[in-house]
Amino acid sequence: MAEEAVYNIEYDNNASINDQWQEICSQLKMEFGETAFDSWLKPLSVSSFDKGIMQISAPTAFMKNWVLAHYSERIHKIWEHKNPEIKKIQIVVQNMMTTKDRASSLNDTSLLKKIKSTPTPQSFYGFSPAANSYYEHDEYLQSKLNPAYTFENFVVGKTNEFAYAAAHKVAESRNVSFNPLFLYSGVGLGKTHLLHAIAQYIQKNDPSRHVVYISAEQFLYKFVNALRYKDTAAFKEQFRSVDVLMIDDVQFLANKEKTQDEFFYTFNSLMEGGRQIILSADKSPNELDGMESRLKSRLNSGLVADIMPTDFDLRLGILQRKAMQMGIDLPQNVAEFLAQKISSNIRELEGSLKRIAAHSQLLSSHEITLDMTQDVLKDMLRSIDRKTTIDEIQKKVSEYFNISVKEMQSSRRARNVARPRQIAMYLAKQLTSRSLPEIGRKFDRDHTTVMHAVRKVEELIVEDASLAESVESLRRSLDN
Ligand code: ADP
Ligand code: MG
Repeated sequence: MAEEAVYNIEYDNNASINDQWQEICSQLKMEFGETAFDSWLKPLSVSSFDKGIMQISAPTAFMKNWVLAHYSERIHKIWEHKNPEIKKIQIVVQNMMTTKDRASSLNDTSLLKKIKSTPTPQSFYGFSPAANSYYEHDEYLQSKLNPAYTFENFVVGKTNEFAYAAAHKVAESRNVSFNPLFLYSGVGLGKTHLLHAIAQYIQKNDPSRHVVYISAEQFLYKFVNALRYKDTAAFKEQFRSVDVLMIDDVQFLANKEKTQDEFFYTFNSLMEGGRQIILSADKSPNELDGMESRLKSRLNSGLVADIMPTDFDLRLGILQRKAMQMGIDLPQNVAEFLAQKISSNIRELEGSLKRIAAHSQLLSSHEITLDMTQDVLKDMLRSIDRKTTIDEIQKKVSEYFNISVKEMQSSRRARNVARPRQIAMYLAKQLTSRSLPEIGRKFDRDHTTVMHAVRKVEELIVEDASLAESVESLRRSLDN
């Protein structure tokens, strides 16, 4: 195919572009969760592909900018990986379309031509009559709840029992107990699940209480829209009747001062009125960068509960429970294999189970075996195996410089130990996704020492060719 090959949705090649988009959508859904996916990614559609530029349409200017700021880089990464021909992702506003048009846009050639000829990039706060008339002014302050996210479906283990108990307690207390309840954990470990469980529990057992669950992203979106339409009074009014307010992923409000002020105001007035507030974030209140300190201290004033990374037993328990719910027969050795291998988060664990289930349904025997699992998940497993750990780096670097890992982690400052230690820290920063404090902990040091080591090695690489060569050869042996 010639380089300047043009794919338009109305031509045959679109089938594959559309298939790719569907695959990317499932991946995005897995990574960002259902709520974020439904709000921001589902409304997008591919409109054209030309000279390496994939054009994606969003229904409003606001959405376009949002996707651009938060998701387009990731979309590009995933797509580029699938299809190296894709050089750039462009998000455009799909003007003058109704929701129904949007749904059928991929099948409707005439409409598509129209969109293709009128992509109108617009500025964030730019007033756009077209987008304005399209904008569905939705008064409802509530993100969708997933009916499967209940307490019954939540598997409790050592790493999440405290958060579970706190969530359950808040849900069943008629009067305010821990206020606010603040849940935090890394991604895919069950925060959203617990929040939805609380909301659904209250809706069922105490329907007179008005529960609102909203993602911080939606909160921000609605607030910015209210500002834009000079409608902040109505925005505030919506909170007056709320008995239980839940905001998911509040780290999203980092560095958004105006929204934080609004949130702080809402927060205080609800607390003073004796209403329950429940929040989640990916870090503890103290670690939330870009948050005003008065807000941090407010977030800290109730009960803070974290969900720790899963352990093997919990992963196994979750797999068995999900397999049962999905009605699939998951052999013990396959469950153990998956629980062993896929340790990052529960969303990925579920994703792997769904893939195996889908494959088994296509096979005549329907049987899930270890071989079949390894085959179906080979890409995923390869990338897991490839992930370099800090332990490995410490081991390799120690061997290379002929010191022991113990010495590397010790407090000794002699050059022959200190230098390899700095190199190991540098490689850990380069080759893993661990944060400076996390790396520091592995060396029994704090994050400033790691930062210093990284800078030092960067300087040395420029000055000292033989050191540069050692670092390079270590990197090659680790990064394969
Ligand atoms: P987070 O909000 O922390 O990123 P989610 O609540 O979205 O994570 O969880 C990711 C997926 O893992 C969801 O499908 C959820 O149902 C599932 N999950 C998480 N923890 C558990 C658990 N303890 N038991 C059963 N499923 C869980
Ligand atoms: Mg979540």
